[in-house]
Amino acid sequence: MPERTPYIAANWKMHKSVAEAGQFVDALLPQIAATQSDVVICPPFTALTAVVERRYGTAVKVAAQNMHEEDSGAFTGEVSAPMLVELDVEAVVLGHSERRQFFGETDEALARKVPAALAAGLEPILCIGESEEARDAEQTEGILERQLQADLVDVDGARLSEVVIAYEPIWAIGTGRTATPEQAQETIAFIRDMLRERGAPAEDVRILYGGSVKPANAAELMAQPDIDGALVGGASLDAADFAAIVKAAG
Ligand code: PEP
Repeated sequence: MPERTPYIAANWKMHKSVAEAGQFVDALLPQIAATQSDVVICPPFTALTAVVERRYGTAVKVAAQNMHEEDSGAFTGEVSAPMLVELDVEAVVLGHSERRQFFGETDEALARKVPAALAAGLEPILCIGESEEARDAEQTEGILERQLQADLVDVDGARLSEVVIAYEPIWAIGTGRTATPEQAQETIAFIRDMLRERGAPAEDVRILYGGSVKPANAAELMAQPDIDGALVGGASLDAADFAAIVKAAG
């Protein structure tokens, strides 16, 4: 089985000023100097440059939390993939459940955003996940299958290994209710099977778990054979907590 480099991403959501972002990176870098994992920080747009400038010469990558699918145009309030690349941003979170829930992000838009990110040279971190009602009704697999098929419809099978998938059950995001390692492993193994069916080099695709990951539960989650890392919200706002999660990835 190929070795997949662990991937730990900090999703700051709408938190941290430019000054706070700089302080965080200065505190984080010495704590994770020995890591072999991919470490990705996802600040709000306004703090992207502050993080980019501090991480030059380190292994840390920077991701935006969203982008528009067009390169330019009359889309007030939006930013495009080439604009992010110009800032030396390397990745972008797409389809986070908060964007789907509060900002009307659709699978149709994501079907255009994922190839647009790849075309510009950005690594897409595509978030998928089911609601609590869907899990209770045993519809998790159907929901994930629909999201994956719709969002990746225009991505070539061979390029799927360039996409990072984040499995984030909505009921676990920001709730303190983490999926059990067994639940997360079972669901992520199912996602890997679907990618294989879709013609992807599925053993190479990094699939993360997200949903109330903390220093106390990170190691057990990431020890599961199919869980390649974590997308971390709340616990990524504190440099010591995030560093502990990075170290838990091994
Ligand atoms: C997230 O924002 O993607 C997330 C998983 O948040 P939290 O870790 O706070 O649940």
